[in-house]
Amino acid sequence: MTELKEKIKARIATEGPLPVAHYMAQCLGDPDRGYYRTREPFGSEGDFITAPEVSQMFGELVGAACIAAFQALGEPEAFNLVELGPGRGTLMADLLRTASLRPGFIAAAQLNLVETSPRLRKIQQATLAGAPLKPAFHDAVEDIPEGPFILVANEFFDALPIHQFVRTPDGWQARVVGLDAGGELTFGAGTARIPDSDIPADFRNAPPGTILETQPAANAIAEGLGHRLARDGGAAIIIDYGYLKSATGDTLQALYRHAYDDVLAHPGEADLTAHVNFEALAGAALRGGAASHAFLTQGEFLLRSGLLERAGSLGTGKTHEEQEAIRDAVERLAAPAQMGDLFKVLALSSTPAPFPPFDSIP
Ligand code: SAH
Repeated sequence: MTELKEKIKARIATEGPLPVAHYMAQCLGDPDRGYYRTREPFGSEGDFITAPEVSQMFGELVGAACIAAFQALGEPEAFNLVELGPGRGTLMADLLRTASLRPGFIAAAQLNLVETSPRLRKIQQATLAGAPLKPAFHDAVEDIPEGPFILVANEFFDALPIHQFVRTPDGWQARVVGLDAGGELTFGAGTARIPDSDIPADFRNAPPGTILETQPAANAIAEGLGHRLARDGGAAIIIDYGYLKSATGDTLQALYRHAYDDVLAHPGEADLTAHVNFEALAGAALRGGAASHAFLTQGEFLLRSGLLERAGSLGTGKTHEEQEAIRDAVERLAAPAQMGDLFKVLALSSTPAPFPPFDSIP
């Protein structure tokens, strides 16, 4: 039994069942016992491994795309280089190494990291100790200083709370976490009926039992980014697992020590995420004012960015084992059955066409 589970049960006992978004927010962000506050999520000792932790090639190729964005923006004299949810700081360290190849980039960039976890901020600071830019830390996207920006976010949006709705014979209701007869956490339907107008028209008449997710927190950030892109100019590269067309289904998942876990089993000790609805995310950014967007799968993005060439040069002169490890990393990052297809890359831009390696949307 986790301490946070006790705290959540007590909260439900007094306040009533919690909407899924509140449960998720407390599991991840509870100031004392929240997952990102207390746990070391990344690496073989943690619960999952993210792409930048698989191989330096990932951050390097994201860096190459940032250079392309910088050029597409007309090489601004000053801009904010921003990362949302930098984790251990690995992606940014690898990105900056590549970006240093373009002299004007580093000279023009101010580094801004958006991170809520004080523990991870310290780790990011240490990882970037030898980097050519010193980071300024912010709690939220709104705190990023004004001016053009180039932003990257890897596995950030999946950690933001989602809402779930369930179709009952009487219409749509919020999906909630309550207590069963034995006092254990259980999923249920809330009592208040959700107006049909809150449910996208395509799904209103789905059969009973259907679960629908919305991501207001993620969409609000995307809309804000769209607004900033329109006002200040810039580009964003957003990478995450998710789907390109809105659909029904329950994607809330818990990862505990590299295995899927019951979402209600280890609050605060298991990572909780949901798949990102990229159609909704891009739609919000365009509503906010972004001028263009484009999607690639992670596999397409990395291969178009030169993953195989980079792997070849990285492996030159290395031992057989090291070359084998590089080949494994290529597979892991780009093979369709691994991260290549499930992960998507969304490019947003203030210019009418996004930058290479993204195609513009006609
Ligand atoms: N980008 C990293 C880490 C992904 S994990 C990587 O690819 O390895 C999610 C990251 O987002 C963590 O750094 C976490 O502390 C941060 N985070 C989660 N919710 C956040 C929020 N609401 N605001 C800012 N950062 C958040």
